Order: sequence, then structure tokens, then C-alpha cells
Amino acid sequence: MTGVSVFPLTNPYFSMNAETALLPLTRLSQGQLNLLETCPRKFQHIYIDQLGVPISPEQQERVTWGSRFHLLMQQREIGLPVDSLVEEDAQLQHYVTALVNAAPEILTPAPQTFRESEHCRTLNFQSFLLTVIYDLLIEDENSAQILDWKTYPQPKDRQWLAKDWQTRLYLYVMAETSDYAPEQLSMSYWFVKSNPQPQSLKFTYNVLQHEKTRQDLTTLLAQLTGWLQRYQCDRIPFPQVAESRNRCHDCSFGVRCQRTSESLPSRSKNLLPNLADIQEVSL
Ligand code: SF4
Repeated sequence: MTGVSVFPLTNPYFSMNAETALLPLTRLSQGQLNLLETCPRKFQHIYIDQLGVPISPEQQERVTWGSRFHLLMQQREIGLPVDSLVEEDAQLQHYVTALVNAAPEILTPAPQTFRESEHCRTLNFQSFLLTVIYDLLIEDENSAQILDWKTYPQPKDRQWLAKDWQTRLYLYVMAETSDYAPEQLSMSYWFVKSNPQPQSLKFTYNVLQHEKTRQDLTTLLAQLTGWLQRYQCDRIPFPQVAESRNRCHDCSFGVRCQRTSESLPSRSKNLLPNLADIQEVSL
């Protein structure tokens, strides 16, 4: 046995009728765009075939902690008491305090600004509804800042995050759904568990980046439309990632995809999914 069993997953993104024929797709998040680009077949397994994968207790613990941190930051932003959330978790209190100390100018409301946590925006794009949720949005007359709390370690390669669909989609949707010029926008990630204090990475934006993202979205979503139609009409599966990309060795769908240890040189013993594949929980 070289893979894990899969089980049906309730899918909020696709509607299926009694014959399980695919109806028009509604929402797409940055996580789904990342997955689509990483391996279209994996996207099919998870979001169309509705196959879920188990996650390890350690991964579940990290996801739960991250959700609690986000909830605490949201409650703090809107002025609700947070005592009940932190009194049993000194670590949570420690990291929130560290973030507030590291970024007082961001976390202390300034006059003449609009602020909102868990700010949601949607953009209709080629019949898909692109959906973003900003952990915190701060707007003033001249600029808009998107902030995101990360509870995983800061990546060593800044470019990795610059290319991630979260950075690209969050800025793109903001530019398309506001009066701000791309140059007036920025996105900052705060890595709240960095030692000795939280660290941030800031990404600015411009017209060229905006146009490139528009082109890449157009290409990717045209591909998705084609793959969906072929799968719905002829049951032709979505393409698999090339084996040479070395993505299959720790994927839970190895058996289903016939990409098991027999065909792969360095299969990992860890058959559980990557944390990056797990959708962030919106509050
Ligand atoms: S085993 Fe490989 S081809 Fe199959 S879903 Fe996973 S990454 Fe994609």
C-alpha cells in the first residue's frame, strides 16, 4: 500500500446535480489557483471529484492555532474582548503582543483611515468569481495596504512569495475593485512566529505587474474552462504534473494517479498532504 485512502468531501465551490454533472463554477481562491498551477489533476481530485485527504494531528494543530490567531486579531481589531481566547493559551498572547509591539503603526488605528479585518472582495473574471479575504485592509486617501498574518516560518526566498497567487491575486483584485492606481497598493505579510520578533515582507505593485497578472489569469482560467468542459463532456481527466517536477512523491493521490514508489525514485514515507495544499480557514 503506497497511498492513503480518500474520502468524499463536501465541496463549497462546485455545484453538482443528481447525475454529478458539473454546473458552472462560482468561486476561486488564491489557494485553488496555486493548486491548479501546481497540478491540475490534484485540483480535479480535490475540488471536482470531491476527494479529501486526512491531515496529520500536527498539521491539524497548526491549522487550529492559525485559526485562533486570526480570530483573536479580528476580535482585537473590532474592539471585542479577547480575554477568553488568550487566558488558556499563553503562547497566543505572547505572539499577539509581539506583533503589536513590532508593528504599532499598523495595529493602532490612525485618523482619516478606513480599516477592516477579514475584508472580503470578489471579482467576476471569465465567468469565475475570484474571491479574496484580507486579514486586515488599511486605506487612506493616497494608499491601500493589505496585511496578512502568517503562522508558518518566513520563506527564505522572497521571490517564492512574490510569485504566489495570494500576493498576485490579492493585489490584482484590489486594483480592479477600487479607485486606487496599482502603484498606490501594497501587500505585507507578517510572520508572527519569527524570532526574536515578528518579521514582515512587503510587496509593492505597479501597472506592469497588474497587466502580467491579468494575462496569466486569462491563460490559466481559459485552461481551466477547457479542462472542465472536457471532463464534464468526455470524462477526460485534467492533466497531471510532469513526473520530473517531483511533486508526486508526497502526494496522497499517488495510487490513484499511478505515480507510486514503483515508478518514482525517491518516494517519501510521509503520505500526508503538504500544509500549503490545505485551504486557509476564513473566519
Ligand atoms: S500524484 Fe502527482 S499527478 Fe497525481 S494528483 Fe498528486 S501531484 Fe498530481
